[in-house]
Amino acid sequence: MNKVLIAVATLALAACATTPDPQAPKVKITPLGSHDGEFCARDRALVFEDPDGTRILYDAGFTVRGANDPRLGKIDAVLLSHVHGDHLGPGHQPAANAGNCGNPDFSVNVTPNSVTTMVAAGKKAKILAGSDMHTFLAAKVGAAGGDPKLVQLVRFGALVKVGGVSVATVPATHTNAVGPEFLDKPLADMLRAAGLGVDVGPPVGYVLRFSNGLVAYLSGDTGITAEQETTVRRYYKANLVVMNIGGSPFTTGPDESAFVVNELVRPASVIASHANEPATIGGKLVPTSKTAAFQKAAKMPVHVPLSGKTMEFDGSGRCTAGC
Ligand SMILES: [Zn+2]
Repeated sequence: MNKVLIAVATLALAACATTPDPQAPKVKITPLGSHDGEFCARDRALVFEDPDGTRILYDAGFTVRGANDPRLGKIDAVLLSHVHGDHLGPGHQPAANAGNCGNPDFSVNVTPNSVTTMVAAGKKAKILAGSDMHTFLAAKVGAAGGDPKLVQLVRFGALVKVGGVSVATVPATHTNAVGPEFLDKPLADMLRAAGLGVDVGPPVGYVLRFSNGLVAYLSGDTGITAEQETTVRRYYKANLVVMNIGGSPFTTGPDESAFVVNELVRPASVIASHANEPATIGGKLVPTSKTAAFQKAAKMPVHVPLSGKTMEFDGSGRCTAGC
């Protein structure tokens, strides 16, 4: 009889442990893409909001329309995985939804400055930069009228806090040279003539540990790397992954990305990112898209980042609203 009671109690406890608590604090994640309600070719930018109100912008790229983009609100910190144009942002749209989802209109040119550094300057936000990117970004923030001292270094293995959010950088296997368009003459002309950029050290991914327990791994542009298992899963215990899936010739595609999430990181859920395709029409995933192939290959839920649609995640990495 006692054994039966114990079994019933154990089952009840197990049920409690897996039932989401609607009152538990959530992290809000809002994609800032080129076209409202869609997942478009150049979309990378996400805003993370901790339950304590701390707001962090990741990889602004082309799709944040400058510091006055009304979707930004308060921004406490800006993250940049690497300095390639589609992340740093040489320009942006003249208005929401300009151009089409596969080929948006980014005709507002802000070079030699960048969308990333202009947003940081305008918002008086920190930039948390890994590798050797901080001095380059600090000069750009100063040129945009901001405070260069707000650019802070976070090299591999270190941890810094913004409000209740801990931020670490992790290695990404990619390249990281500043293009001549972001540099001044005569250096820019000399580099252009030589077909070179200026290397600013290795690119990074990020791990964000939020105050509700959510641990998000933002892959950045990368290939498959052993760090995804040893560092991201075994040490940081990421339970949500924002995974770049663009594929050839730049980064992991749907198959390689599925291996990363299924075998190496094993999070509770995934947000697809950096698909380099118009992945949705009318907010619905195109069945022949890379994003759909990735969603099928992954063993856990893969959420599609529709621009402007806020998703909410609990401390265990489960999406509880907006997915
Ligand atoms: Zn990229």
